[in-house]
Amino acid sequence: MRNALGLMMVVVWFWQFAAPQSGLANGDDSCCWLAAAGAVIITPTEPLWMGGYAARDKPSDGKVHDLFAKVLVVEDLTGHRLVIVTADLLGITRELRTAIETQVQQYGVGRENLLLNASHTHCGPALRSDRLLRLGIDARYAALSQQYVRLISKRIAKLVGEVVSRIEPARLVYSYARAGFAMNRRLPTEKGFINSPNPDGPTDHQVPVLRVENAAGELKSILFGYACHATTLSIQQLCGDYPGFAQQYLEEAHPGVVALFMNGCSADQNPYPRRTLDLARQHGRALANGVETALMTKNQKQLRGSLKVDLQNVTLRFADPPTRSELEKELASGNKYIRIHAQGLLDELDARGEIQIIFDHFPIQVAQFGNDLTLVGICGEAVVDYSLRCKKELSGNSGNAVWVAGYCNDVFGYLPSKRVLLEGGYEAGAAMRYTAFPGPFDESVESRIVAGIHELVLKVRSE
Ligand SMILES: [Zn+2]
Repeated sequence: MRNALGLMMVVVWFWQFAAPQSGLANGDDSCCWLAAAGAVIITPTEPLWMGGYAARDKPSDGKVHDLFAKVLVVEDLTGHRLVIVTADLLGITRELRTAIETQVQQYGVGRENLLLNASHTHCGPALRSDRLLRLGIDARYAALSQQYVRLISKRIAKLVGEVVSRIEPARLVYSYARAGFAMNRRLPTEKGFINSPNPDGPTDHQVPVLRVENAAGELKSILFGYACHATTLSIQQLCGDYPGFAQQYLEEAHPGVVALFMNGCSADQNPYPRRTLDLARQHGRALANGVETALMTKNQKQLRGSLKVDLQNVTLRFADPPTRSELEKELASGNKYIRIHAQGLLDELDARGEIQIIFDHFPIQVAQFGNDLTLVGICGEAVVDYSLRCKKELSGNSGNAVWVAGYCNDVFGYLPSKRVLLEGGYEAGAAMRYTAFPGPFDESVESRIVAGIHELVLKVRSE
């Protein structure tokens, strides 16, 4: 406490005597934060196997543009810190998260203060060497993937240290606008829910934006979000898809500014139309326009007060797994992925005598900025219901804004709501065949996660 007070006094002294006179230095010290941002290229330098589409049959072949990891560090005047890392990657694996988490401890960044988010570009390198091996892909690429994860973990951790070392007085402003290219992709048909545009399905078209200005009132970084799969493209060139283009366009329009994209709860949202580079650019432009609109809207909320951050694991359960005889039948399936999945579970049955149905590594993270903004980070590929429900239930009557990011910290696979689980289809459970998990979550999945989020939000708000 004495250290925190000491730091506050030093910062206030710095603020009073060192900050240039500007809109920020008008004696309104409630707007004072410390912040900085930076970026590093994480484009692989040799052909790697790519993630996102199981049907790929060759490694990457060059790039459309570079892939980046970016870091935004925000700290309140008592030293409470949030480090946001965004990356043009398909996911954040547990291995990558652990490697970064371990290395950034030296910079005073604790586990609960570190939020990692993947843009979910489907034109990035595959990060799960175990999955590549399970799918029968040349072992050379599994080894290269492991090397790549080690390399970028070092590069990202180094960037965190560098950005932490140059935080400066800042003002944080939240605003939002909208972009319309995301559409629900779960179309109900007589044969069940299929992956196809569903203009009547739920969406979240909000574009939340956090503007970071320095003491002189200059724009330094822009954190922005959108809930849409980064699946415009399925090409063999490395590319950030629409989030990569949106970040590029914002940085071109605001030289020297770091633009960071955080994907939302977009498991069941696709960009439409899609499949050409020109469309990826168009969606990127649409999102960048949404961000520019948020930056100019009259409805700007300056964030005040202190920062509280916490991270906790929630325990989930899978539905009862298939029996041995059901799995043995699946070995005769015409679908290669069903056969591989069944064999993996049979191997687990042989080795352990049972199939694990407890999933005890589901981190949820909350950052509370005064009474103004709650940022919720959910792991996995969460469907849009999580975002819509959290915004409704956590906003309250105080005007506190709520921003929900998916694809945070451990992107293990799909995360259905109870509605989606009961409806069935790809996001409900079929996608699990590409993982080592036994099958769909059980029906308690949404209530367990939402209860965990409420508990954590209550905790940070009452601290
Ligand atoms: Zn996905």
